[in-house]
Amino acid sequence: MDDQKIQVTVWNEFQHEKRDLAVKSIYPDGIHETIASHLRKLDKVEVKTATLDQPEQGLSQQILDSTDVLIWWGHIAHNQVSNEAVLRVCQRVWEGMGLIVLHSGHFSKVFKALMGTSCNLKWREAQDSEILWVTSPGHPITAGINDHIRLEIEEMYGEHFDIPEPDETIFISSFTGGEVFRSGCVWKRGAGKVFYFRPGHETHPTYHHPLILRVIENAALWLAPTKQTYQQKYGKHFPINPVPKP
Ligand code: ZN
Repeated sequence: MDDQKIQVTVWNEFQHEKRDLAVKSIYPDGIHETIASHLRKLDKVEVKTATLDQPEQGLSQQILDSTDVLIWWGHIAHNQVSNEAVLRVCQRVWEGMGLIVLHSGHFSKVFKALMGTSCNLKWREAQDSEILWVTSPGHPITAGINDHIRLEIEEMYGEHFDIPEPDETIFISSFTGGEVFRSGCVWKRGAGKVFYFRPGHETHPTYHHPLILRVIENAALWLAPTKQTYQQKYGKHFPINPVPKP
């Protein structure tokens, strides 16, 4: 492990890709590998992947302790993630680890625990197109993006999205049906930052789109902890209250 590089772990429940041929044809090695293979091109970043079927669900203390930024994709197996693993992830965020939660990860135990709300939303699987409008020009997460990203076909997510008011709203999406959605949001939690990024339904090739990959790349670089985190300041595992039940 190179301490000078940002350590990114791409975690995926990795279920759809193994049982659904349509998804497998888009992501033959899994969504995590598609995202990881893009990030591996960056000099500043060292990337590993982790999945639910691995020991300790790919979320062992050892893995998390050597992760600066965790990227999370989950959908049908949220309930299989143990509460112990959820607590370990939350603890690392409070210590300074960055967390990027993608698409249906809005209903993951980890995201709900960190938000403290239901994280519910409206959705529709149809033939909507999506435009992600940049609402925070100049933000590091939008580097290389003009004023919008257009996705020809995506699942619709609509307001109301039951989240705490974001510290920063980076993108708002509009859909063919007229719905809008806060599709790129940032919150600070403890010494860490959380970025929720909406696109990425498993039956669409969204994570092959260069601008979507660019946003994930930008976010990974921006969410990486600064040297002065709580961990360094107060020592590891500083006392905190237990995580609310997800
Ligand atoms: Zn979806």
